[in-house]
Amino acid sequence: MNRFIKISNAAVGMVLLTVGMVAASTAFAAGGVVESPTGVAPDRYVYYPGTEALNKNEIRLISCGTGLPAARRDQAATCWLAEIGNGDKFLFDVGTGSMTNVAALMIPYDFLDKVFLTHLHTDHWGDLTTLWAGGWTAGRTKPLRVWGPTGQTPDMGTAYAVEHFLKAYNWDAKTRDFVLSSKPGEITVKEFDYKAVNAVVYQENGVTIRSIPAIHAGDGPVSFILEYAGLKVVIGGDTFPNKWYIKYATGADVAIHETFLTPTDLVKFYGQSPAQAIGVGTQIHTSPPAFGKVMSTITPRHAIGYHFFNEQGTHDDILQGVRSTYSGPLSLAVDNMVWNITKDHIVERMIVSPDQAWGVNGPNKPPAPPAAGTVPDPISDFIKAGRWQPAEQAQAPMVDKFKKENDLK
Ligand SMILES: [Zn+2]
Ligand SMILES: [Zn+2]
Repeated sequence: MNRFIKISNAAVGMVLLTVGMVAASTAFAAGGVVESPTGVAPDRYVYYPGTEALNKNEIRLISCGTGLPAARRDQAATCWLAEIGNGDKFLFDVGTGSMTNVAALMIPYDFLDKVFLTHLHTDHWGDLTTLWAGGWTAGRTKPLRVWGPTGQTPDMGTAYAVEHFLKAYNWDAKTRDFVLSSKPGEITVKEFDYKAVNAVVYQENGVTIRSIPAIHAGDGPVSFILEYAGLKVVIGGDTFPNKWYIKYATGADVAIHETFLTPTDLVKFYGQSPAQAIGVGTQIHTSPPAFGKVMSTITPRHAIGYHFFNEQGTHDDILQGVRSTYSGPLSLAVDNMVWNITKDHIVERMIVSPDQAWGVNGPNKPPAPPAAGTVPDPISDFIKAGRWQPAEQAQAPMVDKFKKENDLK
């Protein structure tokens, strides 16, 4: 895989060919000639988050998770961030481990309040915990908003899942409510019919998001189609290739669709039995040749395959499978890739972001903590009486100094 750049229009071949021919006789840095030992290097084919304005008619798409349910440090589970030229940001799935990548983009949490879930496997919403509680403690001032599908019965739908998510994390919420405003700890759910075909689930500010059914593991999963400024980005959730994706993803500027590990690699690397591997890899998910067939049928300007551990041992098998049925523009995604999408170009780069990112304040003032006595104290007198006084004495000078500096009583 070319991790550095891919421009999926007709001019690319010429540009790269030209660069290649010149490079044969001239020493090139990643992005061009370095003219001076004390000057600035040209474009390095990387994206440093927060350093580039987004144009009005542009979408910046970021892979924050491309992996599998089993945890891996270099590939979190599914999460796509779409940043829109009108200022909106949408998270599509927030799979286990993915918030580490999202947080490294240093986007204020108030801008990350809209989450669209394709389905309720943990590798697609497991890190809602982190977005919910982490964002609450690090500057989000308003409730999270979650959109997701119904199920065959109410207990298989998104509203049930979120309601019981909040019940499961009741201790977390109640203990934070005592010291923080409870508002950012709320979650608003908009559930929509999983069987609805190309139905609008969101329409505001020039952005339309539609859903189509998916075929995966049980009823409920969907894929999303985002349209803005004449651009169409399809965010495919887990699915066997389906007729709705073929029909409604046709003409997409960017089409994301899962492509799963081959049955051979599921046995070899994932420890699955052959019977399990052939079922998981070719019935519940999309195999590489099937992915290629989807893409050669819908012919997007750019195709993105994901949902496999992308390493030396798997990459060639996946690529060969895809290339047996599709020869168009392609990324086999890993985490922290970015695509700038406009009418004129689709540019792919890698993100360079810090391992040690902090939350960043947004423009909104944090809501006031609750007034004394309005929220039940979650700590009893019995527990309070166990506080070890030498610790209070040890920290007293630091506490006094801080209170004086900050006008606190
Ligand atoms: Zn799934
Ligand atoms: Zn999945």
